[in-house]
Amino acid sequence: MNQHLRQDPVAFIDIGEQRRRLGSKIDTAVSKVLTHCQFINGPEVTQLESDLAAYCGAKHVVACASGTDALLMVLMAKGIGPGDAVICPSFTFCATGEVVALAGATPVFVDVNETTFNMDVESLRKGIATARKLGLKPKAVIPVDLFGQSADHDAIATVAKENNLFVLDDAAQSFGATYKGKRLGTLALATATSFFPAKPLGCYGDGGAIFTDDADLADKLRSVRVHGQGTEKYDNVRIGLTARLDTVQAAVLIEKLKIFDEEIAARNKIAQRYFDALHNIVTAPRVADGNVSTWAQYTIRLPKGHDRDAFANALKAQGIPTAIYYPKSMHQQTAYKHYPVADGGLPVSEKLSQDVISLPMHPYLDAAAQDRVIKAVRDAVA
Ligand SMILES: *Cc1c(COP(=O)(O)O)cnc(C)c1O
Repeated sequence: MNQHLRQDPVAFIDIGEQRRRLGSKIDTAVSKVLTHCQFINGPEVTQLESDLAAYCGAKHVVACASGTDALLMVLMAKGIGPGDAVICPSFTFCATGEVVALAGATPVFVDVNETTFNMDVESLRKGIATARKLGLKPKAVIPVDLFGQSADHDAIATVAKENNLFVLDDAAQSFGATYKGKRLGTLALATATSFFPAKPLGCYGDGGAIFTDDADLADKLRSVRVHGQGTEKYDNVRIGLTARLDTVQAAVLIEKLKIFDEEIAARNKIAQRYFDALHNIVTAPRVADGNVSTWAQYTIRLPKGHDRDAFANALKAQGIPTAIYYPKSMHQQTAYKHYPVADGGLPVSEKLSQDVISLPMHPYLDAAAQDRVIKAVRDAVA
């Protein structure tokens, strides 16, 4: 079959290779859960929360059902609702702004930096002013650490403090990354992450977690996680959700966390190799000095005049998959275009949505496969 296909396609993200590497460790961990049958709130959930706290240095970790729930739970626990504005970047996965709308508040979209793809601090200031002009109360900002690289947390914290906003860090793609030597998880009032399988630290289904040093917030989050439970099981003191992490997923994550640093190192080696081979011919991503990215995506920009679809097709013909994150920014989406944007518009987000494209990236991308990607990119832009 397929004798004309000389080589198998390269994997865009290879979850199977990691599964084969962990092999019986995961099988054993999962079968322990299948033996004790505590599928909800089993001992693995508590174990994972303490492993994650030790890993990033946060005082409290609340595991939950997804990255989206992690974000939403913080807004609910903080009482965000109608009349409140929450400032978000527009160039992000839709969940960032979606949770604001779900909480009944108004997302106000701001622009991003062209080099880091992360929130532009000047646009954040403008977004806060826009919200006030519209009669909304700016309450929070959700910076996103996009594609694995942390946002400029010091600058964002300064603006947030001046304006009395709390910071909810959307680290769904970037748990494990560092900012000025510190792991994400401690740089905001609360940090949310996702364990969706394709994220750098993924489980075998949906999952997420919230990190905070605020004990009162952690208590509220634990309550929101189970229907706003009070001190007694059938005592409901606030509106909540069913947002627990399954024990089986926690068991998988405990094993995966053990090799996570090795995987981050492997991703960084691969990113460096891409950079060395490609930065002269396309706009290769750069990570600010002193920071470490988890490289959830390796996202390049094509030189002016190159058609992105033609580029993707040329790579596809060589067995190289690509993906576009994100073909539309949030303020351009049908569901979100009626929400306010910072004064002056969001030209960088719009431009990025036109010209970004992501290449295969995962810790098990070997040199031979990577060389095929590099060659295909070079041929396509030559
Ligand atoms: C994946 C993602 C989320 C949502 O995580 P889920 O676990 O899929 O709910 C939120 N924000 C960003 C930036 C993401 O990439």
